[in-house]
Amino acid sequence: LAQTTRLYSEEDLVVILTSSTIKQSLLNSSTAWLVQFYSSWCGHCIQYSPTWKALARDVQDWEQAIRIGVLDCAQENNFDICKDFGVHFYPTFRYFKAHNPAFDVGQTNRGADRELQTVRQLMVNFLQNHTKQDWPASCPALEPSSSENILSLIGQKSDQYTAIIVENEDSYIGREVILDLMTYQGLTVKRALSSDKRLIEKLGINSFPSAYLLHPNGTHDILDVQKRLRFFFSSFLKLLPGVHRKQNGSGAAQEPLIKGPQDPGISEAWKDFEKSKVYMADLESGLHYLLRVELATHQTLVGEELKTFKVFVTVVAKSVLFNSLSQLFPGRHSVVKLLETLLEWLISLPLEKIPYDAILDLVNNKMRISGMFLSNQLQWVGCQGSRVGLRGYPCSLWTLFHVLTVQAARQPDALANTGLEENPKAVLQTMRMYIVSFFGCQECGKHFEEMAAESLSQVKSLDQAVLWLWRKHNQVNGRLAGTMSEDPHFPKTQWPSPDLCPTCHEEQDGIHVWNEDKVLAFLKQHYGAANISPKHLH
Ligand code: FAD
Repeated sequence: LAQTTRLYSEEDLVVILTSSTIKQSLLNSSTAWLVQFYSSWCGHCIQYSPTWKALARDVQDWEQAIRIGVLDCAQENNFDICKDFGVHFYPTFRYFKAHNPAFDVGQTNRGADRELQTVRQLMVNFLQNHTKQDWPASCPALEPSSSENILSLIGQKSDQYTAIIVENEDSYIGREVILDLMTYQGLTVKRALSSDKRLIEKLGINSFPSAYLLHPNGTHDILDVQKRLRFFFSSFLKLLPGVHRKQNGSGAAQEPLIKGPQDPGISEAWKDFEKSKVYMADLESGLHYLLRVELATHQTLVGEELKTFKVFVTVVAKSVLFNSLSQLFPGRHSVVKLLETLLEWLISLPLEKIPYDAILDLVNNKMRISGMFLSNQLQWVGCQGSRVGLRGYPCSLWTLFHVLTVQAARQPDALANTGLEENPKAVLQTMRMYIVSFFGCQECGKHFEEMAAESLSQVKSLDQAVLWLWRKHNQVNGRLAGTMSEDPHFPKTQWPSPDLCPTCHEEQDGIHVWNEDKVLAFLKQHYGAANISPKHLH
């Protein structure tokens, strides 16, 4: 059940424990636990909460081995349980082993400091302290593999990849990558030590850490990542063709529920595309869906809805129109003409309400305005899913708004004379209004509204608007990773992945950090007009 406390919500990817759930959660648990007993009035706890949230995000993929929990000892109904666990100071961190058959107050493990990296390493140590008997069922082996074991796999065909992280004994990267990939199928990750001379000679590795990849077809090579950091190794491996998240996360091999691009039963022909490009076909299909399907559920547009629709058409039309003047317009003249006509029509009609059918008439060009046309076929390219029902429209809507924030930042005059020109948040506010009023997924709208209410007011420039949307989209990606919304062939990752933008990623004290200047430059290039491909347009 969704629970919220003053410091944490389930959005933070921590399990919020209470007096009525904690014992039951820890008893005979299939996973180990790290629980923070805190007090919502304690200053240290408040200051520490961002680190704890970052830790939970960082080890999100480990949750079938070890889970992160919190319990607020300041809540009246938790007073007794905190006494039972002997918690005297806040915050108190306790580790609990998996498969514990009886009540246990847990092990306090302070470590040298409470830095994220130290805690993460303590989590690995704690997992390794399990015996064969109480080893968490889904947790892969973390011990180094022997040269015999690895050498016996070389040159063998297999139904999956094997990645070997070769590193010094005190390095944690191998174990962290093993845990990062534990919910993925199509790949096994092993750890080997640099002291294993026979192995490193055979593999021809002379700097550490390095990763070596055995391909299913029996070939093998060193994994070529731009930076030899945990995040780069993990991201590269997650994106290998045929590697995807297990559907129920149970660890058991299973028949894929969702057909992939290469699967023979797929109903539509697969269209090749490059993930480094944006496709006009997605933007046009999104507009078609928005105007002819999503809007169609509203018989009459009136009041706030009508205002929202007018602003939305203004922003889209002006952004694309401006581009046409400056020779940057990536779209087709027929669609520009449609948007332009729609906008003029909306402005010229000072009506209090507009029946949807009138909009549809115009969009379907019943007025026979020449040269104006929006295809009524869905043609997903960069947004195609591995089966119907995945990706498609929501993907195109994100794409459209990223393009619009970038256009606004690259062409600040695009919204001149619309009343929106002085406002760096204009595109984001339009998106917010559209999502709340029209986006068919109400839950999504609710979440987006919460994010906007929390931080949209901090956006002070057009560049910050581009970055805000990128950050929030990644927040949604983080929340949806591994859920039913995820297309297993397009795993939700923190975007852009290192293969798309290596310089966007850095590491500080063992923690992944973004270089936001590089991210901004990348977003402006990726969602810029010159990167929008006309391929596969009808
Ligand atoms: P999408 O997340 O749709 O992304 C589309 C493309 O954008 C990606 O392929 C990638 O090229 C690029 N991209 C990815 N991340 C970023 C980023 N951070 N910055 C810039 N570009 C990026 N679904 C739910 O189940 N629950 C929700 O609460 C929910 N909320 C949503 C809120 C909004 C406003 C929208 C538009 C959609 C929401 N969805 C939600 C749908 C969900 O986010 C995805 O759109 C959908 O699952 C399809 O995912 P996808 O794999 O096509 O990638």
